[in-house]
Amino acid sequence: MKVLVPVKRVLDYNVKAKVKSDQSGVDLANVKMSMNPFDEISVEQAVKMQEAGTATETVVVSIGPAKAQETIRTGLAMGMDRGIHVQTDDDLEPLAVAKILKAICEAEGPELVILGKQAIDNDYGATGGMLAALMDWPIGSAANSMELSGSDLTVVKEVDGGLQTVKLQTPAIVTTDLRLNEPRYASLPNIMKAKKKPIDAKTPADYGVDTAPRLKTLKVTEPPKREAGIKVEDAAQLVDKLKNEAGVI
Ligand code: AMP
Repeated sequence: MKVLVPVKRVLDYNVKAKVKSDQSGVDLANVKMSMNPFDEISVEQAVKMQEAGTATETVVVSIGPAKAQETIRTGLAMGMDRGIHVQTDDDLEPLAVAKILKAICEAEGPELVILGKQAIDNDYGATGGMLAALMDWPIGSAANSMELSGSDLTVVKEVDGGLQTVKLQTPAIVTTDLRLNEPRYASLPNIMKAKKKPIDAKTPADYGVDTAPRLKTLKVTEPPKREAGIKVEDAAQLVDKLKNEAGVI
């Protein structure tokens, strides 16, 4: 089974986002960028499937600027077989990403596409669902565990107060949640090996996809600054402050 894993290059999750002074977006100049954490989990899943013999070829795809190649190399160093880089300097909306991924699915014929449940930069959480709709494939979303037997795929996800188990048939889409696995670190020999693995260079135009945005960002603002705390003398003062200052009781 061929497995396709789309990965996004995003602001590293340890970096505190700074808003540009004109409020047009987050300042990404000279800050550490990494693979979206959910996508690392997807890559780990695909590599595990390859090690178990259920995946015969694993392809990592990223749509983004020239530097997205580094993100693809990270996936290759973790064990993926080859990459596809669709180069664009625009931060595409989920529908445009899903349309490009659909064209790649049609060209590559994977039986399974594993995406992150969301990209942590803009938190759309929409691409997997849109790709499933465009392909008319079933989707197991926010997977906590997944198991493949022939063309039967069982996906378990956390729901309010418990677990939900669903069964679907491949070809299918899965989106990954944090508890699915613990992504590996790439070893130095594997980082060296990854340099030789092939990456196809493409553009959105190669897939005939119109990537024009449908949303206009009006402004991006930082969350309000937290005020310093105070110490109260006793419970009565705490209740008084909660009632008369914070207005929460
Ligand atoms: P989102 O819908 O933007 O929250 O993203 C959900 C998932 O879609 C991500 O975890 C990736 O697997 C995939 N994805 C989103 N944007 C891109 C991109 N530019 N390149 C490759 N995959 C992407």
